[in-house]
Amino acid sequence: MKSPSTTLRSVDELCRSALVPRERLNELAAVAARYAVVITRLMAELIDPADPHDPIARQFVPDARELKQQPEERRDPIGDDAFSPVAGIVHRYPDRVLLKLVNACAVYCRFCFRREMVGPGRGGLSPAALAAALDYIRDHPQIWEVILTGGDPLVLSARRLKDVVARIAAVAHVKVIRVHTRVPVVAPERINAALIRALRARNKATFVVLHANHPRELTKQARAACARLVDAGIPMLSQSVLLRGVNDDVETLGALMRALVECRIKPYYLHQGDLAPGTAHLRTTITEGQALMRALHGRYSGLCQPTYVLDIPDGYGKSPIGPNYLSEDGTVVEDFNGRQHRYPPRRRSS
Ligand code: SF4
Repeated sequence: MKSPSTTLRSVDELCRSALVPRERLNELAAVAARYAVVITRLMAELIDPADPHDPIARQFVPDARELKQQPEERRDPIGDDAFSPVAGIVHRYPDRVLLKLVNACAVYCRFCFRREMVGPGRGGLSPAALAAALDYIRDHPQIWEVILTGGDPLVLSARRLKDVVARIAAVAHVKVIRVHTRVPVVAPERINAALIRALRARNKATFVVLHANHPRELTKQARAACARLVDAGIPMLSQSVLLRGVNDDVETLGALMRALVECRIKPYYLHQGDLAPGTAHLRTTITEGQALMRALHGRYSGLCQPTYVLDIPDGYGKSPIGPNYLSEDGTVVEDFNGRQHRYPPRRRSS
């Protein structure tokens, strides 16, 4: 394949880069008309077009199955809308809010839980809406943490980010600013000195949470971008989505977690796939996810263990979904080899 030199923004460009065969052009154009398609040059170069099961292609190249919606799938799978008191804010948990700055991303993931809301040209918060969102944060002293999300907030210019971060940091009761992003992996060149300066705020902790799903995404460019963030004093965590055919085997999942830790990124969440429309072919069952977590626990360092979570449909929030190693009565516990051991019940003290 001739390496594409720029970001691919249409199915036709995917065809010309040999990422999809020309005979599938029409069916995939119908998918692209519904759900955005953008693949950065770096991600496109990672794809092996000769491999019909390539795990990077599965994440970014459209698939005709995306137009088949299952009855249990929904437009807003994690119920953001029900917890949005003003535009751009989601206030689900007492001590933190999401601030959705922008509806665009550097790439569009085929499994995205906000796929009905994100896409090129979908805009973001207007200046007036941003001011109202910041007023909401200011008016709620229980908000300890603001999570910048979207879309992907790191597609914004450093100047715009610096302004937003400074305005959030000016709120005395906000102590932590967390940024959810895929940019250090898919467009690492954006992580430059100006953007890093923009993210740092005096007397506030800024965390960057990287979304990565396969160890091949941790290219040398991505590792260098993460190192620039961590070296600048910004701690990093990760979140990954458990995806059928991408990372649903323990070797791949373990290699991903190790690669993250080697980059000084602590694995934070492994998400059960959300019930986003047209994503059933990419979801595992929870039972499969629990078995993978059990295998991960058995073979890999504690640093490599994310928490496996489900965002309960309709907005009830995230819950850890196991596996569980302790019997219900607390008297039998399972070790990392799957052997069971008795733990003595607490004696009544005299
Ligand atoms: S980067 Fe995040 S918000 Fe954007 S398409 Fe991917 S999963 Fe969705």
